[in-house]
Amino acid sequence: MRESPDQPVVIGAGPAGMACAWTLAAAGVPVKILEKEDLPGGLCRTLNFNGHLFDIGGHRFLSKSAEVNRLWHEVMQEDMLHVKRLSRIYFHKKFFDYPLSFFNTFRNLGLWESLRCIASYFRCLLTHPGDERTFEGWITNHFGRRLYEIFFKTYTEKVWAVVCGGISADWAAQRIRGLSLRVALREIFFKSGARPKTLAEEFLYPRTGPGEFYQRFERRIWGLGGEFAYHTRVSGLRHEKNKITALLVEETPSGRIFEMPVPFVFSTMPLPLLVRAMIPQAPEPVLAAARQLRFRSFLVVNVILNREHVFPDQWIYIQDPEVRMGRIQNYKNWSPAMTMDLRKTSLGLEYFCTQDDDLWRMNDVDLIDFALMELEKTGLAGRRDYVNGFVVRRANVYPVYSLGYEKHVGVIRAWLETFDNLKTLGREGLFHYDNSDHALLTGIYAARNYLGEGPYNVWDVNVDESYLET
Ligand SMILES: Cc1cc2nc3c(=O)[nH]c(=O)nc-3n(C[C@H](O)[C@H](O)[C@H](O)COP(=O)(O)OP(=O)(O)OC[C@H]3O[C@@H](n4cnc5c(N)ncnc54)[C@H](O)[C@@H]3O)c2cc1C
Repeated sequence: MRESPDQPVVIGAGPAGMACAWTLAAAGVPVKILEKEDLPGGLCRTLNFNGHLFDIGGHRFLSKSAEVNRLWHEVMQEDMLHVKRLSRIYFHKKFFDYPLSFFNTFRNLGLWESLRCIASYFRCLLTHPGDERTFEGWITNHFGRRLYEIFFKTYTEKVWAVVCGGISADWAAQRIRGLSLRVALREIFFKSGARPKTLAEEFLYPRTGPGEFYQRFERRIWGLGGEFAYHTRVSGLRHEKNKITALLVEETPSGRIFEMPVPFVFSTMPLPLLVRAMIPQAPEPVLAAARQLRFRSFLVVNVILNREHVFPDQWIYIQDPEVRMGRIQNYKNWSPAMTMDLRKTSLGLEYFCTQDDDLWRMNDVDLIDFALMELEKTGLAGRRDYVNGFVVRRANVYPVYSLGYEKHVGVIRAWLETFDNLKTLGREGLFHYDNSDHALLTGIYAARNYLGEGPYNVWDVNVDESYLET
C-alpha cells in the first residue's frame, strides 16, 4: 500500500466513508480508505451466491434528501427500479397488511379483539398511561395498550432483546415518527395524503441490488484520485496532545501489522470500538461510557428454494412469538435480476441477535437447519424446497437505544471533540439508528467541514427528517 503523509484517511468503505472520500476526492484532496473486508458498501453490499444475489437485509433506496437522490440517480442512471412496496406482518398464523388496513386487520383480529383495541386506544388517549420516555409508553399512548401488545411488543423485543420499557422512546420517534392510530385511521377513511414517511409506498432499488451502486461509486472515487485498501483493519489510533498521530493497521491474510502516520482521520468504526482503540487509553469516564453502549448484531440465513412462487411481498415481518426469525426477504420481488433462475426463489431469513448468544454461536449447517424448520412453521415454504444456502453474520449493526444512552454518547462526543484531526461519522460511528441516506449525508457533511465549507453538524443528520423501519 502506498503511504503518503498528506493523505487524510477514512476508516471504512461503507456509505458514510465512501461519501466522505468522494466529496474530498472531488475537491482534489488525495484521500485513502481503509476497509477491513473485501468489498465496498459496508452493510449495503450485495453478495453473489451461485448466481443469486442477496443483500445484507433488503436495502431500500428512499430519501428525503434531494442531494442523496441526485447522487443515486447520477451513479445508477437508468438502472434503478421503482418498486411498489408490499410487506406484511405475520402474526398468529395470519398475514396483516402493513401499513395496517382497517378491513384486513378487522378480519384477522375478529370483531371482539378489534373492539378491544379501539376501546384500549380511547382509554389511553384519555389517560395517557405510558411513560413517554420509553418505547413502550410512547407506543401505548399513540396506539393503545392492546395494539402495542399485539403489533409492537414481540417484534421490538426480538430486535432489541430488552423489554420495551427499557428502550428509549427515541427509537419510536425515529422509526414511526408522525404515526399514531389516529393518523392511520384518518389515512384509511379519508386518504388524507399526510402519509408519514414510514408508510412509503414506493422505493428505488438498483436492478442488481445496492452493491451495484457502491461498486460504481467506488470506481468514481478511484477515478477522482481516491485510493481504497481492502483487507485492512484499523486496530489502534495513536494520539498525542489532542492529535491522532498514527493508525495501527493490520493487513489480512498476510498478518502484517504496521503504523501509518496520518494527518487527519475520518472514522466510521463503531463508536465504542473507536474509544477502545485509542493508544494511550481514553480517560476512565469515557471508557465507562463506551462500555454502556451496546449494539445488537444481525445474522441472515440465505436460502435458494426450488419453488417459483413463495409469497408476493418484498419482505414479511415475523411478529409471531413462536419463531425467533424476525423478517423474511424475498429477493426476486425486489428485482427479478436478483435471481439467476426465475423458477427458483431466494429468501433471506433474518435474525437479530447478540454476539455471544446461542444463534450467533451455532454452526452454519445447524443454523440453516434451524431456519428451515422455522420457515416450515410459518407455512410459507418447507425443507423439501431447499436447494442451497449460506449464512451471513454482522456484528454491531443496531445501536441499542437503552434508556440514558444519549448521556453516554455525550460523554464520548465531548472527549472526541477535543481532537483536532479526528471525526467520527456514519451509523455505528455516531451510534445513531440511521439509514444509508443519512450515512451518506454524514460523510458528505464531514468532508465539507474539512474543506472549510461548513459548519455542518453530522450528529444532527436524521434528527428530524427521516423514514425508518427496522
Ligand atoms: C438489516 C438491515 C437492513 C437495512 N435496510 C436499509 C434500507 O432498506 N435502506 C437504507 O437506506 N438503509 C438500510 N439499513 C441501514 C444501512 O445499512 C446503514 O445505514 C448504512 O450501511 C450505514 O453506513 P455506514 O458507512 O455508516 O456503516 P457500514 O455500512 O456499517 O460501513 C462501515 C464499514 O466500515 C468497515 N470497518 C469497520 N471497522 C473497521 C476497522 N476497524 N477497520 C477498517 N474497516 C472497518 C466495515 O467493514 C464497513 O464496511 C439497513 C441496515 C440493516 C442492518
